[in-house]
Amino acid sequence: MVARRALRLSRLRGQPAWVVLEGDLRRTRTNMAETIFGKIIQGEVPAEKRYEDDEMIAIADIHPAAPLHLLIIPKKPIVSMADAQVEDAALLGRMLLRAAALAREEGVEVSGYRLLFNVNDDGGQTVPHLHLHLLGGRGMKWPPG
Ligand code: AMP
Repeated sequence: MVARRALRLSRLRGQPAWVVLEGDLRRTRTNMAETIFGKIIQGEVPAEKRYEDDEMIAIADIHPAAPLHLLIIPKKPIVSMADAQVEDAALLGRMLLRAAALAREEGVEVSGYRLLFNVNDDGGQTVPHLHLHLLGGRGMKWPPG
C-alpha cells in the first residue's frame, strides 16, 4: 500500500520512489511535541494567541501573508489532513466554524477571506502539525502559487 503510493507519486513527480518514502518517514518520525505548534500549545514557546479552548488554539502567523493571517491549530497531534480520521470530523468542523467566527470578529466577513490547509510537501506544508490558515484583508489570487 505504502510502496504503491510511493511509486505512483514518484512517477507523477519524476522522482525516485525512495525520495518519496524518505519524506514519508521523516514526517512519521516527527513527534508532535517537537513541532513549533506543539511547543506553543504546551506553553513552551510564546505566540500571539487570539483564541483558545479545550481542543484548539488560534494564533497570529509569525510571517503574515496577508493583513490578517491566523492559524487555527488543534491540540490533538494530527500531522496533516492526510492523517485525519473519521473520528476527527467534528473537531475539523469546529475548527472551520471557529475560523468563520474569527473572520467575523476581525472584520473581514463581508470583504471576504480564504481558508486553507497545506498538505504535505507538494501542498507546501512546513510544520507537521495540522493547521488551518485564515487569510484576509486583501484580494486573494487564483490559482495560488
Ligand atoms: P504551513 O507552511 O502550511 O505548514 O504553515 C506554517 C505556518 O506557520 C507558516 O505560515 C509560518 O509562518 C507559521 N509559523 C511558523 N512558526 C511560527 C510561530 N512560532 N508562530 C506563529 N506562526 C508560525
